[in-house]
Amino acid sequence: MKERGILAVVSGFSGAGKGTIMKALLERYDNYALSISATTRKPREGEQHGREYFFVGEEEFEQMIAEDRLIEYARYVDHYYGTPKDYVMSQLEAGKDVILEIEIQGALKVKEKFPETLLVFVTPPSAEELKRRLVNRGTETAEVIEARMKRACEEAEQMDRYDYLLINDEVDLCTEKLHRLIQAQHGKMTLHGEFVSRMKQELKDISE
Ligand code: 5GP
Repeated sequence: MKERGILAVVSGFSGAGKGTIMKALLERYDNYALSISATTRKPREGEQHGREYFFVGEEEFEQMIAEDRLIEYARYVDHYYGTPKDYVMSQLEAGKDVILEIEIQGALKVKEKFPETLLVFVTPPSAEELKRRLVNRGTETAEVIEARMKRACEEAEQMDRYDYLLINDEVDLCTEKLHRLIQAQHGKMTLHGEFVSRMKQELKDISE
């Protein structure tokens, strides 16, 4: 019996190190599929269309909304970001554990639509460390860094709506913890309705 994959959302402040953890997770295990979002922000140096994101214009993005091709979308620091539906659904059907690396508004929308979704929040050990990582990344202007720190303040207000907290002080350890969290979900009783009914029936039949 092919088991449907787990849908997991990983969020965290910009600069929390989510990208590094995702990369490590995908390199280490082959049961994961990472959803590639569409965004209207411009590619950063080294980013490729179809790898980090599908980089699209505002008009194209709004068309995706109108055609109901996104599971969720949100605006984040002046740009649209959204999760294409087809890929996620087909990978889950194929039994892959699908990870969405998205911000908080989107995460909560996904949880509303699919209550079994696992919500994980990744954070650096302190606010000071967060700022240091954003500055050291060197890809953003001071203005954007400031906007992202401000956004982190807002997001912190909602952190406790997630199921699990992952403090990223060591990438390898954090990757392992995330892997274990997701794999543990496969055992959830609520995901095994069919098995439970069959077992109940078989037990009745056998004891008659
Ligand atoms: P960045 O511009 O740093 O790549 O991403 C900015 C924020 O947008 C991050 O918190 C990232 O997780 C989030 N994000 C990326 N893709 C999506 C998406 O499809 N939907 C939502 N709601 N947020 C996304």
